[in-house]
Amino acid sequence: MTPIHHWVGGRSVAGTSGLTSPVFNPATGRQSGFVDLASGDEVGRAVAIAREAFGSWRSVSLAKRAELMFNIRELVHTHKQDIAKLLVAEHGKVLSDAMGEVTRGLEVIEFACGIPTLLKGEFSEQASTGVDVYSIRQPVGVVAGITPFNFPAMVPMWMWAPAIACGNTFVLKPSEKDPSASVFTAELLKEAGLPDGVFNVVHGDKVAVDALLEHPDIAALSFVGSTPIARYIYETGTRHGKRVQALGGAKNHMIVLPDADIEMAADAAVSAAYGSAGERCMAVSVVVAVGDAGDALVTAIKERLPKITVGDGMDPASEMGPLVTQAHRDKVASYLDSGAQQGASVLADGRQTAPEGDGFFLGVSLLDNVTTEMDAYRDEIFGPVLGVMRVDTYDEALKLINDNPYGNGTAIFTRDGGVARQFQFDVEAGMVGINVPIPVPVAYYSFGGWNASLFGDSHIYGPEGIHFYTRGKVVTSRWPDPATSKVDLGFPQTR
Ligand code: NAD
Repeated sequence: MTPIHHWVGGRSVAGTSGLTSPVFNPATGRQSGFVDLASGDEVGRAVAIAREAFGSWRSVSLAKRAELMFNIRELVHTHKQDIAKLLVAEHGKVLSDAMGEVTRGLEVIEFACGIPTLLKGEFSEQASTGVDVYSIRQPVGVVAGITPFNFPAMVPMWMWAPAIACGNTFVLKPSEKDPSASVFTAELLKEAGLPDGVFNVVHGDKVAVDALLEHPDIAALSFVGSTPIARYIYETGTRHGKRVQALGGAKNHMIVLPDADIEMAADAAVSAAYGSAGERCMAVSVVVAVGDAGDALVTAIKERLPKITVGDGMDPASEMGPLVTQAHRDKVASYLDSGAQQGASVLADGRQTAPEGDGFFLGVSLLDNVTTEMDAYRDEIFGPVLGVMRVDTYDEALKLINDNPYGNGTAIFTRDGGVARQFQFDVEAGMVGINVPIPVPVAYYSFGGWNASLFGDSHIYGPEGIHFYTRGKVVTSRWPDPATSKVDLGFPQTR
């Protein structure tokens, strides 16, 4: 049974609260370790160390910070598979998917390697006679990151890479369900040469989160997780005077118009709904089939389902792993019953196809004729249950998305460029795919949803990430005219 400790001041620190939480291998259902849960005092000590480290870290030159980010990039790249294996062991996703997660996180580290360019300010010479004005951006101080279970390596990278490159110090509170990748990353950052105290990890639950929210030395807080907690984080953090970005849950719709390439749309729906067992905030949860696209699309999706191999993420044959916990697996499966009771057709019930054993498996599941009153539509299921809705027109499909409380990602499948362009104009969501089912922005754009999918006004990583982790300063300067100055500079003054 592996103990998983905090990482503070550049070393592993065993918890002192006496409280721990079990960590499972979801593929076997067996407990593999236990993680320390920090008390408020333990969080306070980590913040104090980060605060102390901030004084010198913010003075480190841009050249040196960029060099360090390049070192970090190399080490993460070298250890990509080691990190991915930790993700498989505690999250359950298949190894290829876990490798993809680290790759997407690496993109953000690579973006942060450009920090000297990203922090360049503006300069106005002679704004008034003899007066110059220029802008600089400075780090905010100690930043906290609170992250979800579903991307235990990538989502922390979205936060710490830009935050540290900007000159902040960082306290990460990862999900207690799969905490090992964060500790391993901390070791890599130290090996890369990051000074002790710049990056810290405290494990914990609500107690640790509340301590971060209320701590006067936390200047900014990034959160990614479910909508109810995101709302709580935003309200509590801002009430304590912090800058907060809190990304929440999702219910992502994929519209398929009658003119779409149905085979392409079916491939996209299947990979976007069942990849990572549907535990992605950008997973497609509902396919909205317009007009006569419905029957052909459902047939094409159904044909693909028996070909998806579900199993242990370390087995190279597996294409979909288990869910993260038994409780989550049971909750996800319950939408098949409520869906059936409320009038949906259950075309595939993953309970019947789940691998044997104690793992937290649910096979791929498909509900047809889903309507807006059903629990399977109203809730974020966050598992391998895809719903199909049928509507007559584009306008009805658009209205479904715009009436939904979430607004994370969405996609449209069509061959009509004019309709696609109209959709990007009309739709109320932060990330839009055109014949692309999971439109996660590349690292040099920012990631974020609308409505109940984001509290705060900053999207994460990319240019908005740099903006969030820095504050602006504008300097207005005037220097004595050398021609009239009384100061003896020791050499002749000419104009
Ligand atoms: P969660 O909200 O349960 O937990 C997220 C973090 O909050 C964890 O670190 C957890 O320890 C902490 N937390 C949980 N309950 C808390 C409480 N009562 N008070 C204070 N802190 C608390 O989310 P999860 O189940 O780990 O992750 C899945 C959710 O995250 C889904 O809703 C998914 O859509 C969302 N998500 C969103 C994005 C995005 O970019 N918008 C990305 C990934 C995941």
